[in-house]
Amino acid sequence: MIRWRRARLAAAREETPTARTLIFDVEDWPGHLAGQHVDVRLTAPDGYTAQRSYSLATTEGVELTVEGLPDGEVSPYLVGELAVGDEIELRGPVGGWFVWRPGTAPVLLVAGGSGIVPLMAMIRARRKAGSAAPFQLVYSVRTPDARYYGDELDRPEQGLSVTHLYTRVEPRRRIGKEDLPGPGPDVFVCGPTGFVEAVADLLLDLGHDPARIRTERFGG
Ligand SMILES: Cc1cc2nc3c(=O)[nH]c(=O)nc-3n(C[C@H](O)[C@H](O)[C@H](O)COP(=O)(O)OP(=O)(O)OC[C@H]3O[C@@H](n4cnc5c(N)ncnc54)[C@H](O)[C@@H]3O)c2cc1C
Repeated sequence: MIRWRRARLAAAREETPTARTLIFDVEDWPGHLAGQHVDVRLTAPDGYTAQRSYSLATTEGVELTVEGLPDGEVSPYLVGELAVGDEIELRGPVGGWFVWRPGTAPVLLVAGGSGIVPLMAMIRARRKAGSAAPFQLVYSVRTPDARYYGDELDRPEQGLSVTHLYTRVEPRRRIGKEDLPGPGPDVFVCGPTGFVEAVADLLLDLGHDPARIRTERFGG
């Protein structure tokens, strides 16, 4: 059953100058699939609560990567203030459609910004399972500094191809049809709403079967 659980921050690391990876110890965590997310709830001393969703970055433990939005309510706290040993509340795992289960079918992953998080969980789950499924990642991000999991994604991995598109350094590139393969793979697209909608349109133009395109919108 999905219920609120206490989660203690066990470790944290800076992912980029504006994003932080948080590793939690969660009591009785039931486990989860690559692509699922959790709801996080913060409660202020006066009882005011705020709740947001965050994708799980790996299937091995409860690990989140949060982008601090300058005008945000919850993300600046998670990135800049939550200290190792502090507790928050967390509920999950949530989501049964935007998931990858180890198999052999080719997979296309298309990430915009922090939308890489659940797709990284899929790449890590593929590695853990020793799956031979060909994976292609197309990752659109503002600058090289803003890339999450840079060292890990730079390491060559059999059957995984990675392409970066930078929107704020020359040559500035927004994702286009030429960056995406034709129909065939199972597709997972994740990022800000506008990005996901633009990519879904490109995929449909390319002839991809809508039933094989799974999308997750982060808002914005
Ligand atoms: C299923 C799901 C999974 C998610 N996973 C992640 C994750 O792994 N990592 C992560 O950092 N975020 C993730 N998000 C987004 C997250 O839930 C929050 O929306 C985000 O952290 C902003 O919350 P906030 O309280 O800081 O900002 P708010 O106070 O809610 O909003 C501040 C401003 O930022 C804008 N905004 C909100 N979300 C975004 C966004 N994603 N991009 C750009 N502008 C935005 C709002 O429109 C508003 O103007 C996910 C969202 C969903 C629905």
